[in-house]
Amino acid sequence: METMVSFPIRKTLHSRLAEIDLADPGFGQTPTDHMFLAEFAGGEWRDPHLEPFRDLSLSPFTLALHYGQTVFEGMKAFRQTDGNIAIFRIDKHYQRFTHSLERMCMAVPPYEWFEQGLRELVRLDQAWVPHEPEAALYLRPFMIASESRLGMKASDEYLFLIVAAPAGRYYARPLQVKVETGFIRAAPGGTGAAKCGGNYGGSLYPTRQARAEGFDQVLWTDGLQREYLEESGTMNVMFVVDQVLITPPLSGTILDGITRDSILTLARDQGLAVEERPIAWRELERAMQSGRVEAFGAGTAAVIAPIEWIQFGENGYACYTGEDAWMYRFKNALNAVRRGEAPDVHGWNSRVDLG
Ligand SMILES: *Cc1c(COP(=O)(O)O)cnc(C)c1O
Repeated sequence: METMVSFPIRKTLHSRLAEIDLADPGFGQTPTDHMFLAEFAGGEWRDPHLEPFRDLSLSPFTLALHYGQTVFEGMKAFRQTDGNIAIFRIDKHYQRFTHSLERMCMAVPPYEWFEQGLRELVRLDQAWVPHEPEAALYLRPFMIASESRLGMKASDEYLFLIVAAPAGRYYARPLQVKVETGFIRAAPGGTGAAKCGGNYGGSLYPTRQARAEGFDQVLWTDGLQREYLEESGTMNVMFVVDQVLITPPLSGTILDGITRDSILTLARDQGLAVEERPIAWRELERAMQSGRVEAFGAGTAAVIAPIEWIQFGENGYACYTGEDAWMYRFKNALNAVRRGEAPDVHGWNSRVDLG
């Protein structure tokens, strides 16, 4: 049942839809015509509404600009084969949003606003949802600390926005990654499991170094021993070794990826053995020396990103990327549910009322 909240809507008089090639939209380059916006101040949420996409006006004293209280989500709305549009796993994204906000000492918007804000935005900008099977509408709910003040403290005021952009393929080709044993992304007790801005700012420099060495991404290792594999870029990582799907556990230092969770569920449905457990890079290297290993990244933006090469210090090895690889089966199974071509047995799709 759809919750019934409705928000004031101000529609644009100048749609920018004609400026974009929906068949080849790139990733998140062009915002759709509208956005959702709400404010938290004086201890309460207020003024939820939709309006034409616009720039924000912020004081240079805005707390988010100095002390990093920012949290985001990344989700997608998919065009289904019958022309309907469905948003993928709203409740699980809200759950993670809440978790990230609490870790960052930020106010939590009501679930009804999150859900209905997404639904209304997608309904208003429905013409922006691509029909291409590899494309979708990327949805970005996010929050920033908006109180104007230079002293370091948890903000008493927040802005909650939802913006959207058509998104095609994220990576054009399989990735070559390097196991990172110097820099770390997160440490136990830190903010690694929160989708907060600072985690990404801190990852840019090591990633740039890896690019200069000819790799696309780093494969992070744990912050204590630099031994156990964690994740890569904005993706969880998964391996198939001897017909077992292996992925690092939710230890508190990696994101609880919704793509990760969906693939684990589909793999279990298909009868594949699944292990969520620590995996040392030495173990992975040995497995790659002696047999066939599949490796891939899993995230909303990239969906499934095949990894074709993993570098361990001086030694590197090719991963299996043949047509019969499990990762393509997972990708097809996931896409089939999202597009309404396979039964949605887990209740992941929220159909948008397009009227
Ligand atoms: C968003 C994100 C993921 C993937 O999560 P999904 O819910 O599958 O999109 C994984 N790792 C990091 C660091 C992320 O930011």
